[in-house]
Amino acid sequence: MKTQQLLFKIAILAIVLMLSTCTDSQKDEDLTVSDNTEEESLKNSSLLQIAPLTETDSLGLIFMREEEKLARDAYLELYSKYEHQVFNNISQSEQTHTNAILNLLEYYDLDDPFIDEIGEFEDQSLATLFEELMILGAINLDSALVVGALIEETDIEDIAILVKASSVENIIQVYENLLSGSENHLRAFVHDLNKRGIDYQPRILPIDQFNDIINN
Ligand code: ZN
Ligand code: ZN
Repeated sequence: MKTQQLLFKIAILAIVLMLSTCTDSQKDEDLTVSDNTEEESLKNSSLLQIAPLTETDSLGLIFMREEEKLARDAYLELYSKYEHQVFNNISQSEQTHTNAILNLLEYYDLDDPFIDEIGEFEDQSLATLFEELMILGAINLDSALVVGALIEETDIEDIAILVKASSVENIIQVYENLLSGSENHLRAFVHDLNKRGIDYQPRILPIDQFNDIINN
């Protein structure tokens, strides 16, 4: 996936954020993210068909199980630090995302990499990414919301790659649900940053794709 590339971007971004002075005094208005229908459709999606999986499908599922956990863990940490409601709402959605992948791992009899500790991952690139993101997110609430947007951009890009590479219907269906959830989350974080006077520009997605998502 793109985690190495993302690490580099985050290192640059951390420096940029440290140099810029962001005011933290604005009132935090909470964004509610409605993912109810998303959860329903995720529940129904692993019942369709059994097909032999390619290595890309298998490894993709194992990776996404942990990438969705990374999102959940990051938002739980950032919520406990800032008590900003958007992190609480979206962490619950990420729990449904990682559970949806678990359903597929079980369906295809694949090993679950999940470690039941916040910030711990079998995939070391994700473990490192989590640490970097938490350093950035610790600067202030604005940087924490940027971390959210970065995670969602990464998810959108990684999931889109896996959708393209797969021809297995129930996997594609789960990924597409995750994708629409991630787009909701990206909109929520960017909207929140805008309300705080920050014009978030995409770090990972092409600008046209980013604008399509935000204006959707
Ligand atoms: Zn997710
Ligand atoms: Zn998300």
